[in-house]
Amino acid sequence: TNYSAQELIGLEEKYGAHNYHPLSVVLEKGEGVYVWDVDGKRYFDFLSAYSAVNQGHSHPRIINKLKEQADKLTLTSRAFYNAELGIYEKFVTELFGFDKILPMNTGAEAVETALKIARKWGYEKKGIPAGEGIIVVCKDNFHGRTTTIISFSNDEDARKHFDPYTSGFIAVEYSNVDALKEVIAEKGDKICGFLVEPIQGEAGVNVPAEGYLKACFDLCQENNILFIADEIQTGIARTGKMLAIDHENIKPDMLILGKALSGGAYPVSGVLTRNEVMDVIHPGQHGSTYGGNPLACAVAREALQVVLDEKLADNAEKLGQIFRAEINKLVEEFPLFKSVRGKGLLNAILINDTPESDTAWNFCVKMMENGLLAKPTHGNIIRFAPPLVMNEEQLMECIAIIRKTAAEF
Ligand code: PLP
Repeated sequence: TNYSAQELIGLEEKYGAHNYHPLSVVLEKGEGVYVWDVDGKRYFDFLSAYSAVNQGHSHPRIINKLKEQADKLTLTSRAFYNAELGIYEKFVTELFGFDKILPMNTGAEAVETALKIARKWGYEKKGIPAGEGIIVVCKDNFHGRTTTIISFSNDEDARKHFDPYTSGFIAVEYSNVDALKEVIAEKGDKICGFLVEPIQGEAGVNVPAEGYLKACFDLCQENNILFIADEIQTGIARTGKMLAIDHENIKPDMLILGKALSGGAYPVSGVLTRNEVMDVIHPGQHGSTYGGNPLACAVAREALQVVLDEKLADNAEKLGQIFRAEINKLVEEFPLFKSVRGKGLLNAILINDTPESDTAWNFCVKMMENGLLAKPTHGNIIRFAPPLVMNEEQLMECIAIIRKTAAEF
């Protein structure tokens, strides 16, 4: 590029909406666990594009498949059948153990899709009176940025002045089975679904109490309520199993996937469920021009195959144990660190300061200078989520960077 980092930042400032607050690093290349800035400096990526790049940056197999399919056919729309979609649908539904998938592109679209299916199922299969269907969600959730989704957020920034909101949502406390039990006791007949993140990623890697998800799942089963798992951030090997709900051995009625479904090469998302649920959707009732396009399908199939072939779930489990053990030592050593939490390679370090302080941000700036990229989620919480193709030696190098940064801080 002929532009300096400062010039490139200036262009985004001047010509782009200010809807993000990036760290001041301008990236132009990625490979595996590494990214490089425009000045050629190398960093460990500990965000993985919010867990979209689980397979590592520009995984050669995924990129080859992308190129190969791009040369053949990219988009037909669903007005016609295409030679990749059915093969992908068979592969992905068998892999996760569902009858059918409805393919979309972004995470928020897939969440919207799940909400639409759940409500339609509520009216047509469960027999909820017209217009009265409720979806139960959790406080501090993050499911995306559409008007309906932010309608049931409790984050002021996400919501304010985007009203009027979509109605029909009730939020209960996360990691509290009784809260769900109460709302079901009161309104169970009108509840279509319970939408939940197995770990709340954006809220700061909130890991619920053990058994919480299973207990909620059982409650849903007993009351004919769809248990809808949003695994957009937690799924696809991130937490040490293929899905985070696998830790509690449950199979949700609906599974929402996105992000790492394509390994970061292309926007691919989808909703998986059983026939009895998916069958409420008929032609003309839902869709997307790009949803299920042959390029997306070819890329997603390869991206999932890479996760299996490289045993990324096992690697995430192993490295996650090491990460938390090593950070716990730093918690002992540095008062700056309060605690570490997470599962697999979805972890967060809590900084010993008030949520409103900029200590976590400043610490991330220092880590960046030392060659590691991570970002605060909520004020004083820093998420650490590297690509799952990392090896132990690289992880120890990263621990050393975090330690060095703490010592200098
Ligand atoms: N759901 C969860 C759990 C997420 O973490 C995210 C993104 O961070 C989304 C939904 C939204 O996905 P997208 O940004 O692709 O719309």
